[in-house]
Amino acid sequence: MSKKHSPPWTPSPAHGALLPPISGCTFNGFGEVAPRRPRQIFWLRKPGSHPFARLLEAVKQRFSSVAAYHEVYANADRGPHKLPEPATTRADDTAGNWTRRVKAFVLDNVAARPGGYPGAGSEAELVGIADICPDWVYEGFTSTLPHLVVVGNVMDHVRLSRVPSSADDPEGQLEVCDQYNRGARVVNWLAHWIRSQGYNAIPHAGPWVGSLNLLPAAIACGFGELGKHGSLINRRYGSSFRLAAVETDMPLIADAPDHFGADDFCLKCQVCTNGCPPDAIANDKQMVRGTVKWAVNFDRCIPYFNETFGCGICVAICPWSTPGRAPKLAERFSRRAAAKTAAS
Ligand code: SF4
Ligand code: SF4
Repeated sequence: MSKKHSPPWTPSPAHGALLPPISGCTFNGFGEVAPRRPRQIFWLRKPGSHPFARLLEAVKQRFSSVAAYHEVYANADRGPHKLPEPATTRADDTAGNWTRRVKAFVLDNVAARPGGYPGAGSEAELVGIADICPDWVYEGFTSTLPHLVVVGNVMDHVRLSRVPSSADDPEGQLEVCDQYNRGARVVNWLAHWIRSQGYNAIPHAGPWVGSLNLLPAAIACGFGELGKHGSLINRRYGSSFRLAAVETDMPLIADAPDHFGADDFCLKCQVCTNGCPPDAIANDKQMVRGTVKWAVNFDRCIPYFNETFGCGICVAICPWSTPGRAPKLAERFSRRAAAKTAAS
């Protein structure tokens, strides 16, 4: 899968008819040197008059046309649909204790749901706290709550390795959907519990985009580094996980970012660049809204993403995603980075 596709996969002419005059890369701020907030561009529940509405509706229709993809969300347990108003009296505890209790709720919901919250067993593998930065809020939205609890749900690599998916073989993409559903359950129940303690809480559950870009939040709270494929690389799970989150005003203590050398690794690795059928992953970082970073070419990725019900090749083939490999790579590259710092 990592051999360069030559020539690259190209979309059908019909795809062009779904596109607006503006390119997705321009819409996302490729080449813009001034910082600005991001714009929602994908996984909108109701695209309405969004410039990419026709494309987004076509993607929705394509997914819904296959029973397996339709049912995986339509009939899933994603936790409570309706949340109660926050309790009128706020429970009292220290920020340190609330932080421990929130993390326990996410990672060990047996202990955190005394007699009232269903679903015994852990619903997530990663949890971190970030202080919300205005730069993460999508244009047209506001955020008035100060903290974000970020949750990571690890994907089964054997199932994930079956991507790209098709109507006849949906297994790889269904693993992605199952993990989004797991994330939805934990953040919806977490928001429910936080409100029962008298604080406000707003859940964000994928694949649908909310008011916040969760990727920089996950970096800020220590989930890992941004990879060349535009997804996170975690020191334990590689890129094999999905994100969900809860915004809240409960007093919480933020975690620190985690740098362990994934960025250095990406500078020399080309596995995802070569393995991406439509050639959407550049070997160099790009200037995007005032920051030089790894960024995927939206215009090239999305037609193939649509064709294959979510693609996911770049995440599946990333060497860090191979089970058991990420911790060893992280140890090696952390040592190198420390040696470099000591020598300078
Ligand atoms: S495949 Fe290689 S270059 Fe791409 S994100 Fe993973 S480590 Fe980085
Ligand atoms: S998800 Fe997009 S960027 Fe990743 S391999 Fe597929 S087409 Fe390429």
